Amino acid sequence: MIQEEIRETEPKISKKIWLSSPHMGGNELNYIHEAFDTNWVAPLGPNVDGFECDLASYLKDGVSVAALSSGTAAIHLALILIGVKEGDEVICQSFTFSASANPIIYQKATPIFVDSEADTWNMCPVLLKEAIKDRISLGKKPKAIIPVHLYGMPSKMEEILAVAKEYQIPVIEDAAEALGSHFNGKKMGTLGALAALSFNGNKIITTSGGGAIVSENAAIIEKARFLATQARDNAPHYEHSHIGYNYRMSNICAGIGRGQMEVLDERVNKRREIFAFYEEHLGKLPGISFQPEADGAFSNRWLTAMIVNSSLTGGITREDIRLSLATCNIESRPLWKPMHLQPVFEDYPYYDNNVSRVLFNNGLCLPSGSNLEKEDLERVVTKIKELINKA
Ligand SMILES: *Cc1c(COP(=O)(O)O)cnc(C)c1O
Repeated sequence: MIQEEIRETEPKISKKIWLSSPHMGGNELNYIHEAFDTNWVAPLGPNVDGFECDLASYLKDGVSVAALSSGTAAIHLALILIGVKEGDEVICQSFTFSASANPIIYQKATPIFVDSEADTWNMCPVLLKEAIKDRISLGKKPKAIIPVHLYGMPSKMEEILAVAKEYQIPVIEDAAEALGSHFNGKKMGTLGALAALSFNGNKIITTSGGGAIVSENAAIIEKARFLATQARDNAPHYEHSHIGYNYRMSNICAGIGRGQMEVLDERVNKRREIFAFYEEHLGKLPGISFQPEADGAFSNRWLTAMIVNSSLTGGITREDIRLSLATCNIESRPLWKPMHLQPVFEDYPYYDNNVSRVLFNNGLCLPSGSNLEKEDLERVVTKIKELINKA
């Protein structure tokens, strides 16, 4: 009796709602079984080849792809292939995840951080040009530019590529969050000299962990494969004339990737529906706005990112909302903290216009996984509405 009474008065713990969790399509295990049946349990094999083909044909005719162990590895190899060395400077979008910038340090080069613009939240082309001019006047031309398509939103690539062309600096697109996004029909990941994709567990599709490097230059991707498999020269013994890396994707992980490619478009549509649901139900609340999508841009809406202006919400801040969601077992997360504000990068040069700082201070990513149910989204929306309407 007593036990039952206690059970009845216990608060009910609702199901955890994650920010973005893996969402299998159904065919992944078939590809993995095939790998086991044929004993291709290695960092090469038919699934790796197949996954690379699937990605290339999805992205663009004639593009080459090498599947790697992570998106970070892809950015690292891109820097190596461009010839970034000790002492070189590389321009990187400040408003991003640290993996965009860490490989610059792996190369003992210097990251130069450039702030965002308000239209896309990505690298500001005007500030980029100012930064390049300033670096040149200080005696060094940057060796590469790394723009990012944050939360799937295409950055202003036409403008960025124009500046890059004017100064003859190659662009490495960090498209880790943007598989399935496009601008005027051109897919993200096909616009830079090289591009990086990520298939980490939280991304729009996953291989559990993995990435890919993309380029229209087939020879450069062949070189990426060579460096990613320990740089073994053509010889019967192990002969090395370069320092190599162990960066290839396993044939098991690539099997997951092949299954995921079958449902990529579905996943993009679902994430866009989730964004539209939040915008419809929260967008009219005072002080709430969302990451804008410019004319011509099509974002995969990997994560729905919301801005909270506490001077209009009756004092409710981004943190109030995050903490209140957490008490209901709902995961949400502040936007990326800009790299120029990170302790580990504080000594590096940056070109700041305050845009990313304000976005970081007021922005929140809402649960956006394609496996979320309508009831989950309703729980999120109800909680936020409750908080703001009470204020
Ligand atoms: C996830 C991510 C990466 C790194 O990808 P991994 O596969 O996790 O190494 C790089 N840049 C951005 C913007 C990312 O979101």
